[in-house]
Amino acid sequence: MLYIHCPHCNENRDESEFACAGEAYIPRPETPQSISDAEWGDYLFGRRNVKGRHFEQWQHAHACRKLFVVERDTVTNRILATGTFDELRDKWKKWRDARAASGAAPLLEGRKRTSAKISTGKTGSKKPGL
Ligand SMILES: [Zn+2]
Repeated sequence: MLYIHCPHCNENRDESEFACAGEAYIPRPETPQSISDAEWGDYLFGRRNVKGRHFEQWQHAHACRKLFVVERDTVTNRILATGTFDELRDKWKKWRDARAASGAAPLLEGRKRTSAKISTGKTGSKKPGL
């Protein structure tokens, strides 16, 4: 069981009051009209499950309902920090850059976009849909 500090309420509360919303700091595409369906789907649903230190967005669902960031080690399940998106942004950028320099699998922001198209079944494509 985690005990999580909500930076908005400034209180430590039981994990049962919160909902994890996955990876934090996912950039919205600047021109959604110009990207493929697969790229849009990746933006909406593609999330990394990082082993080790990770930045996640959580919602204090049973109190203020606001989103904030939790820096957590996914191996030990230890929370390293919590804060607003602005408070932890620089820390996340340093982590992201160090991670990229180490050759780790890229996060969504730096991942190569695919040009795969989603099959509708009407084109006769032999490739299955995504
Ligand atoms: Zn709160």
